[in-house]
Amino acid sequence: MGLMTPEQFEGSLKKLKPRVFMNGKKVENVLDNKNTRTVVEANKASYAWALDPRYKDIMSCYSPLVDEVVNRYTYISASTEDLVKKAEAGTFTAEMLGTCIYRCVGYDAFHSLASTTWEMDKELGTEYHQRFMEYLKTVQKNDLSVAGALTEPRGKRSKKTLEWPDPYLSLKVVDKNKDGIVVRGAKINISGAYASHELVVLPQAAHFEGEEDYAVAFVTPVDAKGITFVCQYSPYSAERDQAEDLEELGNPVFGQRETSMVVFDNVFVPWERVFHCGEYQYSIKFVMRFARTHRMTCGGTCKVGFMNQIIGAAKLIQEYKGLEKAAHINEELTEMVVLRETCRACGMAAAHRGTDEPRGSGVFLPDELMGNVAKLNVANAFWRVMALAGDIGGGLIVTLPSLKELKNPEVKDYVEEFYSFGSDEPTENIMKVHKLLQNWTAGLHGVGTWHGAGPIMAQKIVLQRVINYEREKDLVKRTLNLKEKEGKNGD
Ligand SMILES: Cc1cc2nc3c(=O)[nH]c(=O)nc-3n(C[C@H](O)[C@H](O)[C@H](O)COP(=O)(O)OP(=O)(O)OC[C@H]3O[C@@H](n4cnc5c(N)ncnc54)[C@H](O)[C@@H]3O)c2cc1C
Repeated sequence: MGLMTPEQFEGSLKKLKPRVFMNGKKVENVLDNKNTRTVVEANKASYAWALDPRYKDIMSCYSPLVDEVVNRYTYISASTEDLVKKAEAGTFTAEMLGTCIYRCVGYDAFHSLASTTWEMDKELGTEYHQRFMEYLKTVQKNDLSVAGALTEPRGKRSKKTLEWPDPYLSLKVVDKNKDGIVVRGAKINISGAYASHELVVLPQAAHFEGEEDYAVAFVTPVDAKGITFVCQYSPYSAERDQAEDLEELGNPVFGQRETSMVVFDNVFVPWERVFHCGEYQYSIKFVMRFARTHRMTCGGTCKVGFMNQIIGAAKLIQEYKGLEKAAHINEELTEMVVLRETCRACGMAAAHRGTDEPRGSGVFLPDELMGNVAKLNVANAFWRVMALAGDIGGGLIVTLPSLKELKNPEVKDYVEEFYSFGSDEPTENIMKVHKLLQNWTAGLHGVGTWHGAGPIMAQKIVLQRVINYEREKDLVKRTLNLKEKEGKNGD
């Protein structure tokens, strides 16, 4: 089939029956609930763009695996050119949606799976790679949306997995038979999974001898028996629930970045969908290769798109207020652009300097150093961009009345007059742009950006492992013509 239309995507979701809870109630239909609907809309857009002549170059590509044009979010990068396109898609989708493209984590997990299963088959004689590539063919041919799950509840971080009083705080294989495995546990903070077709599950962390039952990777339909989604709920969710007109909201169609806890209560997974089971030495490779890919995407590319939304709103407000000549505002806008471009440059560098990993596998991953630098930069830059937008936007970003007041005959004229900045711009537009900035600067995005793709310590640990100072030391030795101590090395 190749590419699905947005309507076919929506139709395909209707056939699934995931078990979803939000705000203390069961969500009977993710297509109808106002909050889960935002995830449907975001994924749906990815189907529309892949068919749109304006965007298909970025959102689709030819896959030799199935000899068809497929959605980019189902495709494994086979060159640095592919990685550059992947990076561009990350920025494009983020700036168009102002939220996550929920196919992203699964897309990055595919890279990790392709690379690591290839290595396992080579070293262990397993058949995981062949199995995974067969699965990927199904994904590409049916244009499936696949979410990705690594993060786990975990017990006390100071103790090892086997020391936790509850053995299911990390997802565990509890049974194996000739047909497949049964898993129990949970994954937390999982983006948009309930409005996807499938969920790909990787380990969250390294595993060691004795932890074989935790060393597991697989895919499952989101409505498999035993899976339950417990959705995030924030003041922004409540606001959307209560809104009579979605136009009142800061991101009317695509909303917040929606996640849920995914509970696996004795979920059966057939062997043909299992890609890692017991080989604990490889768990860390799945994690690191996922992180290597995701830190470029989630760090250096999608937040660039988010920043574009923030910068656009700050610039509009500058103009509404007649501050075009205010030197400090122009300086702040320039700083925002410099931060954005620094982040973009790191993401692009990670793509351009990507390599196939392991060598010979044909699976291209971004450069580990630059990907981690990208995420680390973004974590800090995003707070700064939020602060600068807050300065330009002024207190109104957080003191804004409801847009409903524009329809309230008792105060409508006051609101129209006193929030107009005396400009020709309709007051409704001015209020909406402030509402958008409220969404970005006074909500979930600061912490979300910090922790998405791992907290900054995770990047610092990787950097300390991959940075090699030998070349720099040699440069200094050469510059100063430093000599080895006589007699060293037996001379
Ligand atoms: C908006 C959003 C979307 C997300 N989407 C997904 C998704 O789709 N799929 C997915 O798998 N995950 C997803 N995540 C999860 C994300 O990757 C994690 O939030 C992130 O890895 C941090 O883990 P945590 O939230 O458990 O925080 P923690 O790990 O609890 O971190 C809190 C603090 O504790 C420190 N810490 C943690 N462990 C240790 C330790 N052993 N020793 C010392 N210090 C420690 C951290 O460095 C940090 O300072 C998402 C997160 C967000 C915010």
